[in-house]
Amino acid sequence: MENLTAEYIDTDFDREHIWHPYTSMTEPLPTYPVVSAEGCKLKLEDGRELVDGTSSWWAVAHGYNHPKLNKAIVDQTEKMAHVMFGGITHQPAVELCKRLVEISPEPLTKVFLSDSGSVSVEVALKMALQYNFCRGKNEKRRFVTVKSGYYGDTFNAMSVCDPVNGMHEIFTGVLPVNLFAERPEIRPDEEWNPEDFASLKKTVEENSDSIAALIIEPIVQNAGGIRFYHPEYLREARRLCDEHDILLIFDEIATGFGRTGKLFASEHAGVSPDIMCIGKAMTGGYMSLAATLATEKIAETVSKGTPGIFMHGPTFMGNPLACAVSMASIDLLFESDWQSNVQRVEEILKETLTPCINIPSVADVRVMGAIGVVEMKESVNMPKVQARFVEMGVWVRPFGKLIYTMPPFVISDEELRKVTSAIRTVTEEISDGTL
Ligand SMILES: *Cc1c(COP(=O)(O)O)cnc(C)c1O
Repeated sequence: MENLTAEYIDTDFDREHIWHPYTSMTEPLPTYPVVSAEGCKLKLEDGRELVDGTSSWWAVAHGYNHPKLNKAIVDQTEKMAHVMFGGITHQPAVELCKRLVEISPEPLTKVFLSDSGSVSVEVALKMALQYNFCRGKNEKRRFVTVKSGYYGDTFNAMSVCDPVNGMHEIFTGVLPVNLFAERPEIRPDEEWNPEDFASLKKTVEENSDSIAALIIEPIVQNAGGIRFYHPEYLREARRLCDEHDILLIFDEIATGFGRTGKLFASEHAGVSPDIMCIGKAMTGGYMSLAATLATEKIAETVSKGTPGIFMHGPTFMGNPLACAVSMASIDLLFESDWQSNVQRVEEILKETLTPCINIPSVADVRVMGAIGVVEMKESVNMPKVQARFVEMGVWVRPFGKLIYTMPPFVISDEELRKVTSAIRTVTEEISDGTL
């Protein structure tokens, strides 16, 4: 009989039977067995430690195994790990939502909790449709967005993701068909030119009668290319939406909770959306939780129309463990002088990554808040590059042409320099052909 108490991680089973994100089941990308994580370090099964440059995909803002976040979960577990949200409420959900209303842009006062970012986007899109249905504008049933966006992997979220990156052709005939304008090109530090907004303006003007909402990631386009754009674009977007009676949805799932240097990226533009999606760092990366916040007007219109209810209700809606740890994570953020931390990370990223622009294989370097990107001229060999990073004691996960880092805000200067120095080495080795 097999030893059921074995400590080792059965990577053969993993490879044969378990799907990982965006990978093949027959020729999977390699996986690295992690046994524990502490602060900003991941511990591999073979004892090696890796400095984490990813925050586990934007989520782990305060580092791993944080005593306060652990305690929030343990304390809540002892009271109640889960209870249904239909007909029941509880302190962790009420306290968390109070806090979300308090810290989010002012007109957003109604909160819908869900389990993941993609679901919060589904909820936002459905809300926009129901809002229009309830006010007799059922012809407004499409969404407009910009190319190079990423909003999640469920169907409607996918339908507004970049059509090329998102491989829409696989799902033709099933995927809703939406409207795509050219992506914003002007960067935050460049001079604004209204030409940059012309494509979106035209797309909206030509189709406004059929558009329910504009969905966009404010300031930072995330998985569609990690691109930064000018705040004026969002101010123009707000004006355009108001003019054409279109709702504005901001996806702050990656940017929310301080990542760009502001609590929410929309603050760079001083613009409020009608609906906002948050997730990822919302629980400090401890549990899967997301939320869709909306204005009173949207909530009222949906609730007073037919059928008088909002048509969504996940089984694990408002999970008490997730809400409790989210509350603790937000408290920790505000106690921690996160602005200084993010600024410190930004300065080191600028100092250490900017010189990479002189390496021949590098096309572009950009930094904003606690996000640092080195864009290569060609797509990198992911398994090879990943292995090289591991060898150098850091965890950085490139995709396509992008080698990037979005470390926990609490990363030490020394740890961060280890990450950026490894990025520099990798780009040099790609350039001289050794990698
Ligand atoms: C990650 C992400 C999502 C999807 O969130 P999941 O929790 O992975 O479903 C949506 N939008 C943006 C901008 C994201 O970064």
